[in-house]
Amino acid sequence: MIPVQGYEGARVAVLGLGRSGLATAAALRAGGAEPVLWDDSPEARAKAEAAGYACTDLTRAGAFEGIAALITSPGIPHLYPRPNPVIAAAMAAGVPVDNDIGLFFRSWATAGWDDFDVTPRTVCITGSNGKSTTTALIHHILKHAGRATQMAGNIGRGVLDLDPPEDGEVVVLELSSYQTDLARALTPDIAVFTNLSPDHMDRHSGMGGYFAAKRRLFAEGAPDRAVIGVDEPEGVYLANQMAMGATDDRVIRVSSAKKLGDFGWSVFARKGFLAEWRKGRQVASIDLRGVKALPGAHNHQNACAAYAACRSLGLAPKLIEEAFHSFGGLPHRSQTIAEKRGVRYVNDSKATNVDSAAKALEAFSNIRWIVGGMGKEGGVSALKPLLGSVKKTYFIGHSGRDFALELAPLEHEICETMERAVARAAEEAEPGDTVLLAPAAASFDQYPNFEKRGEHFTALAQALPD
Ligand code: ADP
Repeated sequence: MIPVQGYEGARVAVLGLGRSGLATAAALRAGGAEPVLWDDSPEARAKAEAAGYACTDLTRAGAFEGIAALITSPGIPHLYPRPNPVIAAAMAAGVPVDNDIGLFFRSWATAGWDDFDVTPRTVCITGSNGKSTTTALIHHILKHAGRATQMAGNIGRGVLDLDPPEDGEVVVLELSSYQTDLARALTPDIAVFTNLSPDHMDRHSGMGGYFAAKRRLFAEGAPDRAVIGVDEPEGVYLANQMAMGATDDRVIRVSSAKKLGDFGWSVFARKGFLAEWRKGRQVASIDLRGVKALPGAHNHQNACAAYAACRSLGLAPKLIEEAFHSFGGLPHRSQTIAEKRGVRYVNDSKATNVDSAAKALEAFSNIRWIVGGMGKEGGVSALKPLLGSVKKTYFIGHSGRDFALELAPLEHEICETMERAVARAAEEAEPGDTVLLAPAAASFDQYPNFEKRGEHFTALAQALPD
């Protein structure tokens, strides 16, 4: 745990008592503050009470008298579509509103650091897609290189749950736009921006607000190094703002679409090869085509971003290349979960929207595509131009029939259930085919979450005869 500094003897309110809220309460207490807890849900309050905390109603008038700060959970809106009333009351009373990320950055450096040979550092990753994969990959490469490292944030542990850092340690944090939007301290040593596509529009009141939330990671803390994906105009703009000029190598530009030779430092992937360029010449190259856990251009973008961050930390290209090959990938993201009779089975259950399903369709060939579930606004017709590598489609779930109409004409079968879809795809598949679960839909019609859907697919595929 990282004891929170700066609130010794103060009363600090905590709104939202999920995993990160309770970790925040414990870290505040460990730092000598008095946490004052509230959650609108009686179940969450009961859980906090069972963990030894008293709850105080923060919705009553005057609740913020004598409170030094309010720490909120990322899921609770502070501005759009409308502020949560407790947050609005805190702001109206002039009480600073922060989150666990802000507390982390003001707390993790301690006086004991003077004894370290190498100062611990943080790498923070944000972007619309690929955050988890890039974060896990950086963490894996650092472990492979024998470096002390911990990973937290939007992935795995809450940040205040981390152990106090060791000499030379690198902490790798995945940060969502909700987290970067509110944190009052945001000072990464290396900041990574993967890409940008529309998401969470209601929470950020549109694309401008969403981008502004992500940009704070770069604007607030002036990182020593900025790794920026430049495949969208926003990334080009951000890189331009951060750099003194084209040759400024504090910015590493990353692309999975174009060659980037004329900058101080760049890393890009083309035709399956990663290339690193510095000051106008190539200094390293890695063949990504045989890297099993990172298939497709979208994963090559993640590989480039992770490579750039690790090069900034002084790791050698050869070491990073070895680590690419031993990376196991993350469950439910372009994950090969079985090979049966020459047919590959890929679980991309996390592809819950059209954008991520499109990336999966582009990453494989000879696809037998399992798709459907609870369709989202806007439908799936945007996937029509990407059906060239699909041999046949097996529709499942609530929106299966609607999807079939939208994507017509294409060879397909309405299977309804995952059992039937896997059985039919396996029956018809030929060696060299890929059976791909990339639903382009939420899972809630048939499963509690995308993880359960992916696990079901995996169990069915792994049970097929060898
Ligand atoms: P995030 O943490 O940002 O949601 P993940 O690594 O969990 O990202 O991947 C989420 C989904 O997006 C998965 O379906 C994955 O295959 C796809 N994806 C991964 N990396 C990228 C990328 N760089 N660009 C677009 N889609 C991606």
